[in-house]
Amino acid sequence: MSDTTNSDKQRLSNADRRREIAYGSDDPATDRSAELLRLALPMISRHGRGFAPISYSVWYEYVRGENHALRSEVDNLLQGSPRLNAEITFDIYRKHVVGEYEQAVLQGRANLLGVLDNISESVDATATTTGDFDQRLEVFSDELGKGIEPQALQQRISTFREDLATISQTMHGLNDKLRASRDEVERLADELVKAREEAQLDPLTGLPNRRTFDQALERAVIEAGTGEQAGALTLLVVDIDHFKKINDEHGHLFGDKVIRGVARILDDGVMRKDCVARYGGEEFALILPQTDLVGGTAVAQRIRDTVSRSRIRRAKSDKVLTNITVSIGVAQFRGNETAEQFFERADKALYAAKQGGRNRVEAAG
Ligand code: GH3
Ligand code: MG
Ligand code: MG
Repeated sequence: MSDTTNSDKQRLSNADRRREIAYGSDDPATDRSAELLRLALPMISRHGRGFAPISYSVWYEYVRGENHALRSEVDNLLQGSPRLNAEITFDIYRKHVVGEYEQAVLQGRANLLGVLDNISESVDATATTTGDFDQRLEVFSDELGKGIEPQALQQRISTFREDLATISQTMHGLNDKLRASRDEVERLADELVKAREEAQLDPLTGLPNRRTFDQALERAVIEAGTGEQAGALTLLVVDIDHFKKINDEHGHLFGDKVIRGVARILDDGVMRKDCVARYGGEEFALILPQTDLVGGTAVAQRIRDTVSRSRIRRAKSDKVLTNITVSIGVAQFRGNETAEQFFERADKALYAAKQGGRNRVEAAG
């Protein structure tokens, strides 16, 4: 292993040690970002060169250490070569940093450049044709000024007719290309909108997915503000009880139906401003802005009660499943914690609800 790799690892372990100190301060999220930035900078200058923002994203992720696939690929590459060039860095960025939506954007941008190249070629061709014609017109105008034989005049006119036919054809070609390009650009725009929606939503329930939820929680925490003055903000983490058993006894497809049913109850059970997301397999998370622990616990109790009274019919049979229940952990934002710590407290409360016997709501202290 090279010296470079060793020193990168050294910085990383220092980061791990310093992280504890950073977490202890007033604004842990900012401190941690600053620390990661400080650690990433020397790596960017050593490995990066081109694609600066991309290089920054890759090395920031590397020092953050939570993107395991990226970490292990970079570590492997560093065994073979002490410096990652711009091309390899971009490759890692595409593979491990950007999501499906960003990939679609990168692809869309490449396609759009292709379309523009195509138009530009056609415009050049048209300009050449009309430019030639313009030159011949000038020559003809000079000839006319000097006087021209009737036979030569007839010859010129017939040539111009052919020229005009060529120009008209080229113009039509350009027109067709422009129309096709406009259609292509519209298709690309539609594809991007679709890709963005797909990247944000969970296909089974149509609810926001975990990635969208994580972003919404970060935003909600910022909006609530920090310190003693932080606005009320409550988080619910919901998990279906003994779901494995439901799958085992009734099959995976029926399990999916139960997940969709619970998703609908959650979505119907909260207000428009609230965010309901499918966090994982049979786990959901709800962000309730301007809601305190008492209010959030009441919402959780109502949801728990509605689910426990729900009935889900099995397809092609009269069998109805009636004993579906959920456990819910509730936490109110403290103002001096990160979104991650806030979520962990709600998740711990959920664990307590499971330990307490399930079909229960537990509030974080
Ligand atoms: P607990 O009450 O402790 O939450 O028990 P549990 O059985 O619900 O929890 P566990 O985490 O052991 O099982 C979750 C199961 O959810 C396991 C997994 O196969 C199933 N699951 C995850 N995603 C899906 C999905 O999309 N559809 C279906 N049908 N099942 C899923
Ligand atoms: Mg469960
Ligand atoms: Mg679970």
